[in-house]
Amino acid sequence: MPHDLPKAYDPTAIEDRWAEYWVRENLFAVASPDPNSKDQRLDGESFTILLPPPNVTGRLHMGHMLNQTEMDILTRWRRMSGRRALWLPGTDHAGIATQMMVERQLTSEGTSRQQLGREAFIERVWEWKRHYGGAILDQMKRLGASVDWQREYFTMDERLSVAVREAFVRLHEQGLIYRGAYIVNWCPRCQTAISDLEVVHQEQKGHLWEIRYPVLDANGADSGEFLTVATTRPETMLGDVAVAIHPEDERYLHLHGKKLRLPLMNREIPILLDEWVSRDFGTGAVKVTPAHDPNDFALGERHHLPSINVMDDRAHINAEGGAYAGLDRYVARKKIVADLEEQGLLAGIKDHTSSVGHCDRCKTVVEPRLSTQWFIRIQPLAEKAIAAVKPGADGRKAIRFTPEQYEKTYLNWMENIHDWCISRQLWWGHRIPAWHCAACHKITVARVDPSVCVHCGSVEITQETDVLDTWFSSGLLPVSVFGWPNITAENRADFDAFYPTSLLVTGFDILFFWVARMIMLGCWFAGEIPLPDGSSRSLADSVPFREVYIHALVRDANREKMSKTKGNVIDPIEIVKQYGTDAVRFTLASMASPGTDIAFNVARTEGYRAFANKIWNAAWFLFQNVDRAAEIGVAVDPAALGGMPTVAEDAPLEARWIVAELHATAAKVNESLENYRYDDAANTIYQFFWGSFCDWYLEIVKLRLDFSEAADKVQIKAALTTLVSVFEAALRLLSPFMPFITEEIWYALYDGDPPAKSIALTQYPRAGAESGNSPARNQMIGLQLLIIGIRARRKELGVPEKLSTHIKAAEWAGSHGGSEIVSQHLNIVKKLAQVSGIEFVTAADRLGKYESLMWAVAGPTDVVVEYEAQFDVAAERERLTKDIAKYEKQNANDERQLSDPAFLAKAPAHIVEGKKKQLAENRLLLEKARAALDALPEE
Ligand SMILES: [Zn+2]
Ligand SMILES: [Zn+2]
Repeated sequence: MPHDLPKAYDPTAIEDRWAEYWVRENLFAVASPDPNSKDQRLDGESFTILLPPPNVTGRLHMGHMLNQTEMDILTRWRRMSGRRALWLPGTDHAGIATQMMVERQLTSEGTSRQQLGREAFIERVWEWKRHYGGAILDQMKRLGASVDWQREYFTMDERLSVAVREAFVRLHEQGLIYRGAYIVNWCPRCQTAISDLEVVHQEQKGHLWEIRYPVLDANGADSGEFLTVATTRPETMLGDVAVAIHPEDERYLHLHGKKLRLPLMNREIPILLDEWVSRDFGTGAVKVTPAHDPNDFALGERHHLPSINVMDDRAHINAEGGAYAGLDRYVARKKIVADLEEQGLLAGIKDHTSSVGHCDRCKTVVEPRLSTQWFIRIQPLAEKAIAAVKPGADGRKAIRFTPEQYEKTYLNWMENIHDWCISRQLWWGHRIPAWHCAACHKITVARVDPSVCVHCGSVEITQETDVLDTWFSSGLLPVSVFGWPNITAENRADFDAFYPTSLLVTGFDILFFWVARMIMLGCWFAGEIPLPDGSSRSLADSVPFREVYIHALVRDANREKMSKTKGNVIDPIEIVKQYGTDAVRFTLASMASPGTDIAFNVARTEGYRAFANKIWNAAWFLFQNVDRAAEIGVAVDPAALGGMPTVAEDAPLEARWIVAELHATAAKVNESLENYRYDDAANTIYQFFWGSFCDWYLEIVKLRLDFSEAADKVQIKAALTTLVSVFEAALRLLSPFMPFITEEIWYALYDGDPPAKSIALTQYPRAGAESGNSPARNQMIGLQLLIIGIRARRKELGVPEKLSTHIKAAEWAGSHGGSEIVSQHLNIVKKLAQVSGIEFVTAADRLGKYESLMWAVAGPTDVVVEYEAQFDVAAERERLTKDIAKYEKQNANDERQLSDPAFLAKAPAHIVEGKKKQLAENRLLLEKARAALDALPEE
């Protein structure tokens, strides 16, 4: 029986091969369910999850790797648990990022987007996309993400573009889209409006310039008095239309109703009274520039003031800026300050630190600027999106957040939401389907490109040049990827099967950008689609996903945020090359739990690489024994494989125990994954594989695998069947976490001819109802503690490793039948603890004639390891004294904590219970150590 497994575990040698195989075989493709099909695999409830589409320009970073590992574990687990699991991948056209990337290329070629013209530029971006786009998905393929590649989309695909257009037109028809002048965050580099979310605020040292505005007398001449205003952006004064003061500010009561002369521009401007003005800030007089500040804009609206925009798209002063026209904003600032000083109008310059907005993409200082944009009247959409997250009439939430705290963050934002500015002055993206008429100046919005104005019939119409915000299209993904808006009776199978999706796993940074927009647009548009039976859809069935899991941050080993400036960025691909994907995935999983950031330490990854190696070696041991058994005509019962192993009641202890352990492990892993406790799940499997299976079970089962002449074939077959079936089930249990090594070994276990095309398509282990409570588990613990105790004692005494020793064992009072278990399993104790013979001592003798022996604690018994070598009483005294000090300190700590009401109120019940138990045990150990110290002979 040749098991085709290389001797040494080398992840690079196996991972590429399987990654390619999974993609080539389309193993994770999920067909549209056919209502008439009898394929049982498609009968189950769906588990649908959308990959947050990475930017088409993106490269994989640690955040992706964590996010994708979490998604892949859950998807593989749900799939193996019988759900129709669909993980849907795609990429985002990423308007600004992609346009910038190509523009940079053009610059290096000595040309520009403007020189190329719109059409040629867009063609150029498509070309770029064909060559370099989506590299991040190739990285995902290599990492084994179990997505349905046949459903891969790009947000600019034809069918998704249709959805974008339909959404825009429909919202327009519903009166929810309007065009208006508004203060936007303008990036002079990207030459587009950007949303509040795309602005990064940084504290920056600057100045506060105090400027004297001459007060005019009744004849319009300078009165000799000045009103001093303070500003951080003096260049905006060119667009001032008023100065505002608080109506009750006593310093300025005499100025009510007067006018000022705007310096440099020689424009008469009024003094306004407005309660919004803070008397305490600066001089209490505020210049009003509606075209360049959102607060001033609001003030201007209240007082019906004109808005004078003094800058162009590049933030150069325009013709409205008089003598300063054509100057860059900062050049103009310098000149303005110099001119004011020369005219004696500069009252002072103060150092001032303020929060300055920068473009998230290009880091240019953002210019608040008045411009005409397209907006969504967001209130009606927000109302649904709020209701979807709050408990409904039945007390249930349609969308649940994990960790729960993000629900509050979300609601807080949603309840204070502003209309959404959806237009961007870019070329790359979905162009707004609106046409301006040169004749009647009205706008035609249409599903199909119009040739005439719908209002006047003129042919002189031109399409809007703006494109839609990228998040407008990605916000529609949950509906558009399943066929919306084209949901008809014939083609709604996908929509009915996969919408609402089950779960969204994403980062906090796009909670508002993306998560909130999907909820708004999903509830709005899906809500219009009747259920298959024609009845109307509830909000609970309109939401784009039922659960949102916000993953944590991956930090460096010192818990520092990774950043290029700090130089502590870990490239997941590099780590994968070094240790293998499985080990990196396992590292992330073993630390991932809701709300806890991950301190990524490669030392841990190295440890999990060793874990994989351990499993590999276990497979080798297994295969060798299977092959040797075959030589004497014994084979594993194939029917025992593929399900949950069971064991006969009269089977040896280690067999009953390992099967019970497996069931308990499966129960804990399933429960942990239900609660997004990747860490608990991973650590539980790790403990099982490394501790229970390799360190204990394999060592014991060797005793049963005796292939000599006198071999008991029935016993060998039983032992081998338990060994192989438990190992096979454990591989399945581990498979979502370490898909590559488990696939490789699983194939070898079936000699390359397994019952399914992949271990990922088998059944996930689930515990039987009673199996976790087997008495074998307690019996085995007693045995293990005894063996560990003897080993420790041997070490203390310096017994040479190869030397077996006799021991005396005395059972503790009340440790129910410990010695009975031991005497039944003498061979195990002898083998694992290097014991040549055991003498059982009664409790009376333990306290009587043997009292003066060197008793040590070993689980439920006290033991004496009879080793005749030189016994160092001084060293023993020192050791016991140290132990006593250690227990005393620990007990004092525990006692203090357990009597601290604050600790008891805050700590989880299982921690408190654990501490109590530990304290009780340590008290006993302390007592024993003291007794042993007393019993030491005089030196
Ligand atoms: Zn920018
Ligand atoms: Zn017209």
